[in-house]
Amino acid sequence: GFSPSSNASFRSLSSIIFVKVISAKKIQQVIPPPAKYGGRHTVTLIPGDGIGPELFSHVREVFRFSCVPVDFEVVHVNSALETDDDMNNAITAIRRNGVALKGNIETKHTLPASVKSRNNVLRTSLDLYANVMHCQSLPGVQTRHKNIDIMIIRENTEGEYSSLEHESVSGVVESLKIITRNNSLRIAEYAFQLAREKGRRRVTAVHKANIMKLGDGLFLQCCKEVASGYPDITFDSMIVDNTTMQLVSKPQQFDVMVMPNLYGNVVSNVCAGLVGGPGLVPGANYGRDYAVFETATRNTGKSIAGKNIANPTAVLLASCMMLDHLQLNDYATLIRNAVLTTMNETRLHTADIGGQGTTSEVVQSIMRIIQSNGQLTADL
Ligand code: ATP
Repeated sequence: GFSPSSNASFRSLSSIIFVKVISAKKIQQVIPPPAKYGGRHTVTLIPGDGIGPELFSHVREVFRFSCVPVDFEVVHVNSALETDDDMNNAITAIRRNGVALKGNIETKHTLPASVKSRNNVLRTSLDLYANVMHCQSLPGVQTRHKNIDIMIIRENTEGEYSSLEHESVSGVVESLKIITRNNSLRIAEYAFQLAREKGRRRVTAVHKANIMKLGDGLFLQCCKEVASGYPDITFDSMIVDNTTMQLVSKPQQFDVMVMPNLYGNVVSNVCAGLVGGPGLVPGANYGRDYAVFETATRNTGKSIAGKNIANPTAVLLASCMMLDHLQLNDYATLIRNAVLTTMNETRLHTADIGGQGTTSEVVQSIMRIIQSNGQLTADL
């Protein structure tokens, strides 16, 4: 197996070995950990910054109310500190529990270049190579485009996010973009497997291989190779600039999309915007051994923190993805249906989707629906 290490030379050596071991073979699916301690799961919870803490307190309230057999191990990461201690604790906790729910940890641009994004360190340390976002139109939410149903598979650990930058001479900075055959094959494999599992018909690889002929060219080539093993699924490709234009004019044409890290960042934000914004869409990060669930667009929302106006939908849906991952599918379905039913109540909409409702009103409504569905519930 691959054990990430802070020692760069060891890391490159181990990744060479890793390439050989799994080259072009089917990826192993994430195996949910067994329920421990009397049928209950322990999950790491990183509340993060901005609206994270208040929204996760609502998630805990809904879980408790619905008698979900999950206990949270809360790990706070203080983004104001420059030491790595908090982050190391969080990563250790996720290694122990296998699964985490997290808010976004603020990355200040003003800190020195040596201070890396904590969110990024977490994803790379745990080798969470696949980011998955399902962007779907919600019937109750007013948007320009209707009937959108796109799955985005984003490469999550390399590309432009390797933080390999240096100023070669004053005024000239080089930023390295890393694309490896090993990782491109497993992300493509992930996308096609997911497409097949979900009964999807088409996978589109997004790239800029006309300019980045070697890097994006390799990514595209790997997608083509993997596609040949899936004759039941149509494969095509699209250049990233055209993709964003097509998305804002005719988003219904897309089915499953697979792409390198930075394009994934941009495209997933465009897609979230198309279906109603950052407060609505959940996202998941999967690796072979661990899974971390968060909102798709990874915002902190610090300007609306502590005002009881943030939309709790995305974090609640992320927690439902987590419940599915733990194979607590009945609980996931119960909470998800209550969240989606509440979205149909226009009078409860929060400000981000054009209403005047508060976070706690939305959450109260969700809990009332859970209760009316006859589920055994704890006291309100
Ligand atoms: P700034 O105000 O400096 O842009 P921010 O942290 O509030 O910082 P982001 O976290 O990047 O901004 O979020 C982008 C936008 O999306 C903000 O306007 C934010 O208020 C909004 N937003 C993010 N999450 C939610 C949510 N759950 N509910 C409602 N609005 C949200």
